[in-house]
Amino acid sequence: MNYQDLCALINEFVEGSTLNKVEEAGIKKIYSLTLVGVAAADDPLFLALKSPSVIGEHHLLPREWLPGAKAVISYYLPFSAEVREANRELGLPAREWLYGRIEGEEFNNALRRHLVEEFVQKGARAVSPILESRFSVVERRSNWSERHVAYIAGLGTFSLSKALITKKGCAGRFGSVIVALPLEPIPREYTELYQYCNMCGGCIERCPSGAIKREGKIIATCASYLETKIKPRFYPRYGCGKCQTNVPCEHKLPNLLL
Ligand code: SF4
Ligand code: SF4
Repeated sequence: MNYQDLCALINEFVEGSTLNKVEEAGIKKIYSLTLVGVAAADDPLFLALKSPSVIGEHHLLPREWLPGAKAVISYYLPFSAEVREANRELGLPAREWLYGRIEGEEFNNALRRHLVEEFVQKGARAVSPILESRFSVVERRSNWSERHVAYIAGLGTFSLSKALITKKGCAGRFGSVIVALPLEPIPREYTELYQYCNMCGGCIERCPSGAIKREGKIIATCASYLETKIKPRFYPRYGCGKCQTNVPCEHKLPNLLL
């Protein structure tokens, strides 16, 4: 399978799946068309994720998930304009964002399953770690981080708000599939971890919990806000995303500050 066929396979699902909308919330489309990245399964950066200063020893290598793995496909699902724009007001999360966050992840899981099935049908072994029973989260650090994988696969760089900024912004979700099929890696167009973030501080101003500082994001503060202020009010949905909307990196690369 070449890169164009891979992008077509993913985007046909984005365009055609009935899960990419939420009738009860009036959302016609949760996600717009994807960006797709590819990394070699033996890219040395996967080993670097095992460092305690990055994620930790429990982060598994592609070949620990799938013996004989050759490539890792990572994709970015940008939230549609209707989901992003609804969340531009300050304060509580928009209804569209909450549905996008929860029903959107159900769509993402369906896409992960679809890709695995497509590869298996073509005779190639494939797994999506998030769907595996071995997937786990230890002290808020998972054993397969979609954002770190997306960085390795050439999709974008980290931001002050700890999102990943892609050429289609940071308001969206990531997914990945490991395959035992040789695919040409996509070259990374960056060399620095935070290269696409212009450090404008827009996300600091937007955050209702004060979790983002010039020095970085305090993940525990954000998590506590979601747990205590959002979940009880909006259960079974939750989310916030104010740091990803109405900011220069919402749906594109931010301009560099001169
Ligand atoms: S709002 Fe500015 S500082 Fe915050 S993540 Fe986006 S580009 Fe970086
Ligand atoms: S998700 Fe909300 S609370 Fe968490 S850092 Fe972003 S703006 Fe702040």
